[in-house]
Formats: sequence, structure tokens, C-alpha cells
Amino acid sequence: MSPFHLDLILDLLHGCRWACGGCGVEKTAQLGWAAPEDLDRTIALMKEFSRQGYVLDHFEIGPTDFMTASNTREVFEQRRFKELQGLFRSTLLNTTFLDDSAEEWADYLSSAMADRRINFFHVIDPFALGDPERLELLRRKRDRFLGLCRFPHDPFPHPLLNAEFVGQEFDLKQVSDSVFRILGRKPYHTFSVARGAHVSERRLLQAIERLNRNFDRAVNGEDAKALNFYYGSQRDGLSRHYAYRNGQWYWPPILYSPLVSFCEDFHIPVKDWKVEEFETWEKTVMMESYLGLDQKTDCVDCAFTGACAKNGLFKLQDYLDTKNCIAPREALHRWNAATSAFRAGYPATKDARNAST
Ligand code: SF4
Repeated sequence: MSPFHLDLILDLLHGCRWACGGCGVEKTAQLGWAAPEDLDRTIALMKEFSRQGYVLDHFEIGPTDFMTASNTREVFEQRRFKELQGLFRSTLLNTTFLDDSAEEWADYLSSAMADRRINFFHVIDPFALGDPERLELLRRKRDRFLGLCRFPHDPFPHPLLNAEFVGQEFDLKQVSDSVFRILGRKPYHTFSVARGAHVSERRLLQAIERLNRNFDRAVNGEDAKALNFYYGSQRDGLSRHYAYRNGQWYWPPILYSPLVSFCEDFHIPVKDWKVEEFETWEKTVMMESYLGLDQKTDCVDCAFTGACAKNGLFKLQDYLDTKNCIAPREALHRWNAATSAFRAGYPATKDARNAST
């Protein structure tokens, strides 16, 4: 059986009322399913993944606010949509919770998806971060919506921040703490800027380096637990993410969260919609990552080579045309030291383990 978990990222929603800082989503570029048969083919494909042992985990419908996109109901009510949704453990939707239609949506989702586990990415406008009153308003809006919903499971929305926000260095620990204090959850970070059609590699690289610097400064020892920071864990590489937009499939590298880009470099050449096409892509990326390793400046002797290869960072480096580290390496070292199972007294080296037996 396959050990992999699969998350499906469906960029189907068209339009959004908001203009959150740092958002790079092309709001009107998603046109639902490119062809009616794409939904049928996706169902067949996901069933095949499932037959091969993949655990179908999250089913994310985005990329815009589902409450204000113009085609949300059309997508939800398409023939066989529920069949596809039902293959996954949970459905994820993006929203700010701010729209006046929240009540109507709570009602709709509570009846149309009563039998599904639903959760939300709560997109936070970065301009609210330094303003406790605005964060408090976001909490009230969120809680009002959730209070109106009648789901069998209680959703607990994940706060989501656009990583390029405001283009400034910031105190990540402070940001995380204030979001946690008011919204009850630590924020996730996403490079939505990578979804833009005209974003330059340079701009994306700068955004990555800026967030890395912030993490390198903020993560130390116990503080690591105050941040959502899963990169470098043993589960790296066991989560598979595939993104669909307008009839094409894309493969996001993982840096803090899936970094979805619609550039050719991340385009999976899928013709027959078969599992083998996705697995061949994964294997090729992995092989090329290791073969090109000696050309990277920092990676050959790095402790995170395996994690970065599995997360697709070497391919991302190539796309960004840099040979330097693009991960928050200092933070990773401290995070791993703070959270490693070896801390519990398990000797770190094989020799030490042999000596202790
Ligand atoms: S990208 Fe950075 S963390 Fe990853 S292997 Fe290279 S040097 Fe190490």
C-alpha cells in the first residue's frame, strides 16, 4: 500500500470581492472545469489513486473567497461534484468571513454539505495584523458565521497570511502571537503571489527570502512551537499535492505550504489522466533534484537535502534561477533541535545507540 496522502487543489472559482494585501491570485482567471468531462476524468483519476493506496485527504476549492466568487454555486451543484468531494476526508474553502452573504452561505452549506467535514482557510488581510480591533472584528465575523452553521463536525478555520504581505520585514513571533491570541490559531503562510501570471522570478525569490529571514529570526527553541512550521519533519514527501486549473495539472513545491504556480516549470504533462503520469513526474523531479545537487551552493552537505528534494525545493531553485538555499535553514535547525524525537533520550547516532544497548 502507498504511504502517501493526497491533497487536491482545485482552482475553479471565478472572482472575488476583496483585495487583501499581498494577494497574487488572478481572481478572474479560473473558469470552473475547462470541459464537462474534466470532472468525470478527475473522479476516475482520484478513484485510481485511492485504489493504489493513496489516502485522499483534503479537497480544496479556491483560490478566491467562496462567498464572493461568481460561480461557487455552479461549481458545488455540478453533476457528480459531490461524488468527487465524497472521496476526500475533508473539504477546504477560502474566505474572509466578511461578506454580508455569510448568513445565506451558512444556511446553504449546512444543508448542501451536511454530510461532509468542512473547514476553512481564514484569509487575513495583513493590514489588520497590527490592529487588535480589526482582528477582533475578523474573529466576530468568523464566529458569527460558524455559529450559524449546522455541521456535524465543528470547523476550526486556519488563519492564512499572504507571505508577501506589505513587502516589509516584520516580527513574525509578534504576528503569530497576536493572531493566536485573538483567533485561537497560529497562522499559515502562503505564497499566493506565485499564482500571478506576471510575477517575476526575482519578486518571488525576494518574497521567499524575506519570509525565510523572518523565520530564521523568530524560530528558536521553545518559540518554535508558537509558529506553524512543519517543514523538515519526517512526513515530508509523504504528502502529495496536485493543482488543477483550466484543464491543466500543476505540481506545487512545498515551502511553508504548497506554492502553487502555473508556470510551465510546474506543469505536469498529463494526457491520459492516469496515476502513472503523476508518479512519473514525481520520480523525474526527484531524480533531477539529486543529479543537480552538486551544482547548488549550500545543499550538498546540508542536513535537509532529503527534505528539500522531497518538497521540490531544488526544482524551485532552478525556476528561481538561484543556486543558494531558499529554505529558512537556521530556523530548521533550531526547530528540529526543539522538536526532535531524539530529545526524548533516544541517542542521536547509531554508535551511541549501539553503546547504550
Ligand atoms: S535548500 Fe537550503 S535547507 Fe534545503 S538542502 Fe539546500 S541548503 Fe539545505
